[in-house]
Amino acid sequence: MSETRVEQTRTYSRLYIGGEHVDSSDGSTFQIINPANQGVVAEVAKATPEDARAAVEAAQQAFRSWAKIPAAQRAESVFRAGELIRSRKDELARLLTIEEGKALRESAVEVGEAYKAFMYFAGEGRRLWSIVTPSEQPEKFAMTVRRPLGVVVVITPWNFPIVTPSWGIAPALVCGNTVVFKPASNTPLVAAALVDLLAEAGVPQGVINLITGPGGTVGETLLSHPDVKAVTFTGESATGKRVAEMNAQFLRRQVLELGGKNPLIVARDCELDLTVGAALFASFSNTGQRCTCTSRIIVEKPLVEAFTRKFVDVASGLRVGNGLHPHTEMGPVVSQGAFDKIHRYIDIGVREGAKLLTGGYKYTDSERSRGFFIPPTVFGDVSNDMKIAQDEIFGPVVGILEAANIDDAIAIANDTRYGLSSAIYTKDIQNAYKAIEEIDAGVTFINQGTSGVEVGASFGGVKDSGYGRELGEAAIDHFTEKKTVYIDYSYARRPWFFPWESS
Ligand code: NAD
Repeated sequence: MSETRVEQTRTYSRLYIGGEHVDSSDGSTFQIINPANQGVVAEVAKATPEDARAAVEAAQQAFRSWAKIPAAQRAESVFRAGELIRSRKDELARLLTIEEGKALRESAVEVGEAYKAFMYFAGEGRRLWSIVTPSEQPEKFAMTVRRPLGVVVVITPWNFPIVTPSWGIAPALVCGNTVVFKPASNTPLVAAALVDLLAEAGVPQGVINLITGPGGTVGETLLSHPDVKAVTFTGESATGKRVAEMNAQFLRRQVLELGGKNPLIVARDCELDLTVGAALFASFSNTGQRCTCTSRIIVEKPLVEAFTRKFVDVASGLRVGNGLHPHTEMGPVVSQGAFDKIHRYIDIGVREGAKLLTGGYKYTDSERSRGFFIPPTVFGDVSNDMKIAQDEIFGPVVGILEAANIDDAIAIANDTRYGLSSAIYTKDIQNAYKAIEEIDAGVTFINQGTSGVEVGASFGGVKDSGYGRELGEAAIDHFTEKKTVYIDYSYARRPWFFPWESS
């Protein structure tokens, strides 16, 4: 990692444009705060609109030559980057924990998932299949070929600062596009490290560019540029709608991966201990800051009491602390803003009449009071019309709701503006199929919590949770344009209409 290092002392991270590490054009910077102790860990270049335009222009300039390199060869750079990610796993995981806060073991898993994305899409470089269709005519050939799009913008949030960018960047590059990457302002350090690894792996100048800075200015400048041909955006639903408005000006291709309010249904026939464990992970892993986290646990009435007792018991025992401590199970939330917002929702839940069963308080011990720590928080007696059941809180807060039966549970699950992930725990195949057929969500897990998607299967949401799909075969469709080719080798056919027919 040539330019971005975080050790004990503060470091400086720059933009990466056209193969050069550069300061922002007006020299301005912003600070990165460690959410575990509020220490300043880095200064980061704050790009100007001029820098954002320069990045698109560098990517546009690099596009023609990168697109001409055979896909299998492009994929070799992506493969090498994957190998570098794996070989630097510990270093990257530590950096990730310092800037985002999650427990070190979760950071290590995330880095491992980024490695998988690079390996999976490197393999695609030897496929990029398209279709040959039997022609209606003799001695005629009909097929589609895939072509790269051009400059692609990848805009990402802070909660998965290495895996979310990898899901966009790796397939975009293998498909022959060049990339301008704009990470969230809370987590630019891992982003910069990822870009440095790509350069080290041999990705040519201008093919990958990094712009750090506020979404409202540099993000919008990128989206205003006519040379940008596609956007992969991950973030809040409200921001996604703004991004879609801007993309509409150019009829631009887009994938929007947005918020969620994910239900986990607990059927009366489920394996209780297994379900409690899965619900715990789905609710509180990554400190509840996954787009796919469970935030509504919908339990069939006969099991509500037993499930709640066991769930609250294990949730209140989770070890909360600095993510760098080896025994930590749940780190802090990402920022002061997130901390304040989550506490506002905890107060709302209490005022709405939900029963605070555990958590909800502020730590007073000397270590945790310095950071943005929130204990695992569980509300009981939640009804689905409460704000805490409808709004995305994006923190370690989950509500337990009662359902009369599975049909009622599915109706509650669907009564939301979101539709990202969903899950059911059951041994009854009819329940499972009902969930598959009737839950309005991009993902339904059967006997798995709402989190844990795999790179080989497409991923995305419905309703306010998103538009389009990434990963798997969907990523290849997103990052390539299909051109249809007809080849007539008969040298005989004539169009039927004037003037040839009459001659
Ligand atoms: P956010 O919408 O505030 O920001 C996301 C990114 O967009 C950041 O890089 C930000 O700088 C940029 N941005 C902000 N305003 C912009 C604008 N006007 N134009 C262009 N870019 C702009 O989201 P966040 O707080 O960073 O992330 C949390 C959200 O992300 C949650 O809602 C979560 O559910 C969602 N998320 C969704 C998925 C998914 O796959 N569906 C995955 C992870 C996170």
